[in-house]
Amino acid sequence: MTDPTHKTALVTGASRGIGAAIAARLAREGFDVVVNYAGSEDAAAGVVRKIEAQGGRAMSAKADVSDASDVKRLFDCAETKFGGVDVLVNNAGIMKLAKIGDSDDDLFDTQVAVNLKGTFNTLREASARLPDGGRIINLSTSVVGLKLETYGVYAGLKAAVETMTSIMAKEMRGRNITVNAVAPGPTATALFLDGKPEDLVQKMSKMPPLERLGTPEDIANVVAFLAGPDGGWINGQILRANGGLL
Ligand code: NDP
Repeated sequence: MTDPTHKTALVTGASRGIGAAIAARLAREGFDVVVNYAGSEDAAAGVVRKIEAQGGRAMSAKADVSDASDVKRLFDCAETKFGGVDVLVNNAGIMKLAKIGDSDDDLFDTQVAVNLKGTFNTLREASARLPDGGRIINLSTSVVGLKLETYGVYAGLKAAVETMTSIMAKEMRGRNITVNAVAPGPTATALFLDGKPEDLVQKMSKMPPLERLGTPEDIANVVAFLAGPDGGWINGQILRANGGLL
């Protein structure tokens, strides 16, 4: 099944939201795509079907990114089916908001597990397995710069992801592997919209000078740039994609 003429992109958390848009976009760019998911098996299968219907190649793969052995298996699956991973997009994430003083252990531990350990697990695996010329793109958030109340734990962990991004870019010296992060502003997905009253959604959508929420496709465009030939000289950077919010 392996085809050396195709490059492969592994997108974590690609069953829904921004990850699904990234998977679709990278498939259009000619990548074979591994569509990772944690629980949404049907949604992930739908993303794969859509890519295949447009002539692309994709597979879905269940793995909890917070589990290092799951992540190893995920890379193994990509190797078996597509011959390896050239581009890693660390998109899987969860968001739980509360003031730091009101945050319980579960809020802290689950976000550390997925957003920080999950990113670490895939970065470590990618460091061992990506070939020369590979690309790594991590998802951060513009809240690292905005520092809004109730985002303390979530944004603090994404700040750690940004720091790992810049350090890993240096550690890849000699391998022609770039490591960057994309930091979206408010983007219309379940992660942002669920549980927010409509007036708050409206207020936040007017915050950027472009006066709308981001779409998953807006973010996928930036990831495709970093993963493609035109993005090759960008390395160790955090690209804020937020309509000018910050
Ligand atoms: P969604 O909630 O829409 O989708 C999250 C995705 O992550 C799903 O595919 C989900 O899989 C997957 N996922 C969750 N936990 C795990 C896990 N343990 N292992 C593997 N996959 C997992 O989120 P978004 O698309 O909005 O967010 C994508 C990324 O963008 C996140 O890192 C988020 O922090 C970041 N971001 C989002 C912003 C926004 O406003 N939406 C703004 C700034 C950053 P499943 O369906 O199987 O549960």
